[in-house]
Formats: sequence, structure tokens, C-alpha cells
Amino acid sequence: MSDAPASAAAKAPAKSLPQKAMEKLGLLRDIDFALHLPLRYEDETRVTPIADAHEGEHVQCEGEVTECRVDQRGRRVLIVRLQDDSDEVLLRFIHFYPSHQKTLAVGKRVRVRGEIRHGFFGREMVHPQFKAVQEDTPLAASLTPVYPASASLPQAYLRKAVAAGLKRADLRELLPPGVVPAKLPSLRDALNYLHHPPPQAQLSTLEDHSHPAWQRLKFEELLAQQLSQIQAQRERALLHAPALRAKAGGLVERLLAALPFALTEAQQRVSEEIAQDLAHGQPMHRLLQGDVGSGKTVVAALAAAVAIDAGWQCALMAPTEILAEQHFKKLVGWLEPLGLKIAWLTGSVKGKARQKMLDAAADGSAQLVIGTHAVIEDKVKFAQLGLAIIDEQHRFGVAQRLALRKKLASQKLEPHLLMMSATPIPRTLAMTYFADLAVSTIDELPPGRSPVSTRVFADAKRWNVIEKIQEEVARGAQVYWVCPLIEESEAMDLSNATETHAELSAALAGFSVGLLHGRMAPAEKAAVMAQFSGGEMKLLVATTVIEVGVDVPNASLMVIEHAERFGLSQLHQLRGRVGRGAKASVCVLLYTGPLSQTGKDRLRAMAETNDGFEIARRDLDIRGPGEFMGSRQSGAELLRFADLQEDSALLQAARHLAPLLLDQHPEAAHRQVARWLGAKAEFLKA
Ligand code: ADP
Ligand code: MG
Repeated sequence: MSDAPASAAAKAPAKSLPQKAMEKLGLLRDIDFALHLPLRYEDETRVTPIADAHEGEHVQCEGEVTECRVDQRGRRVLIVRLQDDSDEVLLRFIHFYPSHQKTLAVGKRVRVRGEIRHGFFGREMVHPQFKAVQEDTPLAASLTPVYPASASLPQAYLRKAVAAGLKRADLRELLPPGVVPAKLPSLRDALNYLHHPPPQAQLSTLEDHSHPAWQRLKFEELLAQQLSQIQAQRERALLHAPALRAKAGGLVERLLAALPFALTEAQQRVSEEIAQDLAHGQPMHRLLQGDVGSGKTVVAALAAAVAIDAGWQCALMAPTEILAEQHFKKLVGWLEPLGLKIAWLTGSVKGKARQKMLDAAADGSAQLVIGTHAVIEDKVKFAQLGLAIIDEQHRFGVAQRLALRKKLASQKLEPHLLMMSATPIPRTLAMTYFADLAVSTIDELPPGRSPVSTRVFADAKRWNVIEKIQEEVARGAQVYWVCPLIEESEAMDLSNATETHAELSAALAGFSVGLLHGRMAPAEKAAVMAQFSGGEMKLLVATTVIEVGVDVPNASLMVIEHAERFGLSQLHQLRGRVGRGAKASVCVLLYTGPLSQTGKDRLRAMAETNDGFEIARRDLDIRGPGEFMGSRQSGAELLRFADLQEDSALLQAARHLAPLLLDQHPEAAHRQVARWLGAKAEFLKA
């Protein structure tokens, strides 16, 4: 494959605006241009006699200009009369330049393209495309592609660049004969067809991507995806990790005995799955998924206990300081009585305290290190890290996961990796993107929970809601009030939360009302959280800092203001803060209309289901896989052409072929991945 940039980019010494725009679209290699497919097509392959052009049709006509004048009444309009053998059509230009008048001067022959309307004076076209022609100027031989472009990237420029890239790209058939699903064309033929369809092409099959040329492209893409996943899986199998086994009568058994509750069956099952992975000499790469409140923390603690029992260290990393601190408290409560030493490492641990923690991690005296991103900084060394646990893993990027894995570099070993998430990955996505990931699922909530009922109200009902809060608080309930996220400005976010706090403090005179937001110092946050968990504080006004992990079982009412501004999984996470005790809980979603369609879909989904898996499935429907995955696959290319639901037959074929290809034609497999994923292939493996 040629890695040379397309000619348009190679010739100019300094990058022009269109070149930069092309880079921004990811158009770097020849193959990138070849794979930049038209959004739609224009038909310049035929000329329609004016008399045959019907209202509403997009047509190309050709004729001689018989009149060209500027209408000065009111707004200046350029009016051009064009005549062919059959009839005439009036062209109107509201924006025009002197060059228009030159090309469209009386007596000139022009080809125009646009939508036919019936105006007062007969047929009209408003702002048609036009070009000067001779009697014998040939018509286009194929449909004209219209590409996804941008303001600084003119269509004509991009067309040339794509045509050049397509010509130069290495499109050799990589797949052995007989493996491509029947009746699909070669990649080269498919791409040539899609960029330059013949005049008789069926536009509908090109538009809905059902044409065999499209099918071939999707198959290629899915195959590359599957190949890269299997490659990653096989490479991982060659790596080594310490084999970690719990001792009989050791830490794990002592922890289980000390817990104030018995594990649910689901917790037992996933703990067993994790223990089996840990006992192997290959690094575990497992995702533990379970709805909010399903009890993932204790499963993490048990995994840590296995590692520590076997004489290794464990690191636990959480995306926010609040969440890390909750883990820390919980794990200290469970594990310190068993004689373990736990270090605490976040950005706000500084100076001597920090040095002490760093030393404890480096000399191995701390068996468990809990913290935020601070845990993966270069300065942090471990004596021997056997297991790394990442909570809310979708909040971390690929690079951060890689950094954790490198923490055991000295011994040619990698630590085991356990990722946890309350946002389950729908099955279709798991099959496609996470073939390389083992998944354990907690599908059962601890006993004694009552489901949260969710109600949606327009903002006009705000006062009724506040009255309801007054009643509930008087009865001893605790309440969360979540303030909206204002993306443009953190400061506005804050002033909004502060105002709401003042308003609710006034409404709840005599009760303690707290405020929690992202700008507070960690110590302040901790103090507020302590008051709320202790029960003295009745109402907590918070920005989304409470989104993950906060655990106050007595809280039974949550109000989310401007719920339309939150994403579906975020709403579900927030709602998971209530319904943790025996009390029947309520979540109120206040919205300000008008709602967009996706806004409506999200709120409806929240009202209709409490099930995290169903929420994830609907979220995928609403947003599509690209958005759904978010930062999880940062930098990695998602499927551009294939659609997991629609193309499941092609996906099956690709899943079937990928391992065979890797075994029997490894070179072809490698080229296939490089062609589609380029440098991103490496990234997909993290
Ligand atoms: P999440 O999966 O959202 O991280 P947590 O681990 O925070 O959930 O658990 C939620 C709450 O449930 C915690 O208070 C935890 O101590 C409690 N819990 C976990 N497992 C059980 C169980 N088997 N029985 C009773 N309570 C449990
Ligand atoms: Mg949790």
C-alpha cells in the first residue's frame, strides 16, 4: 500500500485552507481518499428538453441565452432567459457577480442544472448551476459525486483530490478466491462504481447502501474490524502475567466472613470468573458490568484480596476524586481490619503525604493503592503490581489504560486488568468492538431495593415539586437536586447551582441544605458529602459531580433540572443514586421545552425503564454507535459504512472468515487491517 499523500497535498509547500480541511476530514493517504464516498449524486449525463422538465424535478437543460438583464425594482435580481428547441426557462439569481453576466450574456450557449419551478412567467430555476458550453461539449459519462465537504473545501477541489487518490490507491484484491460473499464485486470495482456510477445506475440502491458495491465495502470494513480484534486477542495471549491464587483460609475467606452482607448469586458468579482469570499466567482483560447499585465494589475488593493474598499489589483507579474517596473509605473499612495497608493517591495529596504514599507503593508496603488519574503518573512506581482495577472505565481514554499496563514493565509481565462499568455494552457492539474483551455481568441487585419510579414534568411544575420536597423532608427523607450542565461555561453552571441553592434553602427554612459542585476543594466536597451521608443534611444541591458512585441509602428523592440537557446514560447514572435503601424512591425529571426528538426519546426511555441494559440499548438506538462509545475508543475509527443492525449477515460472514484468514493468509490479513485502520490498528488493542 502506498502511504504517499494524495497529489493535491504533496505539491504545495505551505498547506492551503482546503488541504487543511481535507486533513481534518481524515483524508491523508490515497486509500483515505478512495474511501471518502459520495453523499449523493448529480446527473449531468443527460440534457432534458425544457418542455419535458416538470415542476420539482432536478434537471439539466441546455440552450441559448435570449435575454439577460438586472431587475432594479426592489432587490437587484439577475434575470436570464434560456431557450432550446422545445421551450424556454427563466433563470433568477439574487446573488450574482459581473462574471455571471459575462457567461450568461445574450447569444451564449450554456448548460444549467437545478430544480424546475412554475413561476408567474412559466418555468423557472432559482440559482441554477451553469456552465458555458459549445454545441459539441460532451456530457458527463457518469453520475457526478457530491462528497461530504466543508465550508473551506470546495466540492470541485475535493472531487479532483478524490479522483486522484482513487486512481493511485492500492486496491489490489487481498482476499483469496471464494471467501467473499457471493455476487459482490471486487473492492476496486466497487469503489470505481460508487465514485462514478454509470448513467443507468439505480440511485435508490446507492442511497440506501443496499447496492452490491456498498455491500462489498461494508464487508471489507467489518472484516478489518474483526481481524484487528482477533489479532489483539492473540497478541494478548502471548503476554505473561503473574498467576494469582487465593490461599485457603486466606484473605478472601476472611473478607467474606467480615462483610455485613452475603454476596448475591451474581456477585459470586462474577467473582469466580475473575478468580479463574487471575489464576492464569496471561493478563486478564475483563469488563465487569453491572447496573448502578448492583454491588461492583465488593467484587473489586475480592479481586484485590486474591492478588494481595498471592503476594502482589493492586491499584484501583476512579475517574473523580469523590468516587475514589468513596472506594477508599469502603475498602479501608473492609480491608484494614484484616491487616492490609492502603495508600491514597490523588492530585490533592501533596508534599510529604504524597511522598509517603509514593514510597509505600514503590517499596510494596502498601498492598492496595487507590486514587484518581494520579495513580498512572510516571512518578508512581509499584514494587509489583499484579492487578489494576479501573472503575467507570469509559471515563478513561485508551492511553490511560495503556499506562496502567506498563506499570509492571520491569519483569516482562503485565498486570491483570479489571474494568468496571455501569454502562453495559449492548451485545451487538460487544461482538464487534470487544471481541478481545471478556465480560462478566452482575444481573441482579442486592436484596431489599425498591425500584425507583420516574416522573417527567415540564418546568412549569417546579413549585409543585418543591412543595413535595418540603413534605418529604419533613418526614425525614433526604433529597438530591441536580443542576443542569451548561456546556459553554463552568461559571454559569456554578452561578445557576448557587442560585438554586439559595432558593431551596429559603424554601426549606430550618433544614440543612448543602451545595456540591466541581469547583470546590476536595476537602470542602468531602465535608459536604459527610454531612449528607451522616443524615444531618436533608437536601443536597449538586452539579453532576455526584454522577458516579455516591452512595447514601437514605436518599429517596432526586430532582434533575433541565433533564433534557443530559445524556441518557448520564441520567440513568444519576438516578442510580436513589433507590439504594428500602424506601420507595422517586426520580423527578424537570424539562424545559420545546424538546427535540432525541430529547423526547431520552425522557421517555427514562420513564419507561429502570433497567440499565435496556437504557443502553435505547441509547445506542438514539445516538448510534459512534456517539455511544464516546471517549472509550478515543482515536479509534468506528464503523463508517457498516451498520451493526442492518448488516448482521455481513458481520456474521466477517466473523467467520477472520480467524481462517489470519491462520491461512496472515499477510493478507495484515494488509487488510492496515488498509482500513492504518495507524489506528495499534490503538484498538489497548
Ligand atoms: P455499584 O455497582 O454501583 O458500584 P456499589 O458497589 O456501590 O454499587 O454497591 C451499592 C451498595 O450496595 C453499597 O452500599 C454496597 O455496600 C451494597 N451492597 C453490595 N453488595 C451487597 C449485597 N450482596 N447485599 C447487600 N448490600 C450490598
Ligand atoms: Mg460503583
